[in-house]
Amino acid sequence: MNEACLLFDAKIENEPFARCVVASFIARLNPTMDELIEIKTVVSEAVANAIIHGYDGQEGKVEMNLKLDNRTLSVTIKDEGLGIEDISKALQPLYTTKAHLERSGMGMTIMESLSDDFKIDSEVGKGTRVTIVKRLKEVSIHESDH
Ligand code: ATP
Ligand code: MG
Repeated sequence: MNEACLLFDAKIENEPFARCVVASFIARLNPTMDELIEIKTVVSEAVANAIIHGYDGQEGKVEMNLKLDNRTLSVTIKDEGLGIEDISKALQPLYTTKAHLERSGMGMTIMESLSDDFKIDSEVGKGTRVTIVKRLKEVSIHESDH
């Protein structure tokens, strides 16, 4: 088991930073390019949501917790922002409360489809926590040789 935690300001420029932290965290496991892209995409979407919807331009902190158990990665992304009124609506493809900002409403759908497990806890006025689980494929002895 290996755990790490990152606390950062809810500024959109921290989104690529958070995504790269996750990539470095799992680098020694030799993830495939596809796995790496999928994990980075999921983390980007969750962090962007925390910043754009959770804090909506207000100051705040986003917390990212990483846990690696063998080859199972769990990531939680937490904000203490506005919260989500209706989670089942938020999960629907194309549902967005920010259509005027040209959001497509696909973030949650993408996160769900690229994760092995995906969970949202949210309370209006308290904030949101998204948990993503991704199992990395075993690498063959041949592949891990070099
Ligand atoms: P896209 O991700 O395609 O840019 P989007 O962010 O609006 O668009 P989703 O990521 O699917 O779409 O999120 C759907 C809706 O859920 C958002 O429009 C917002 O209303 C709500 N939501 C998602 N994450 C949060 C959050 N952390 N805090 C508050 N509301 C959220
Ligand atoms: Mg989104």
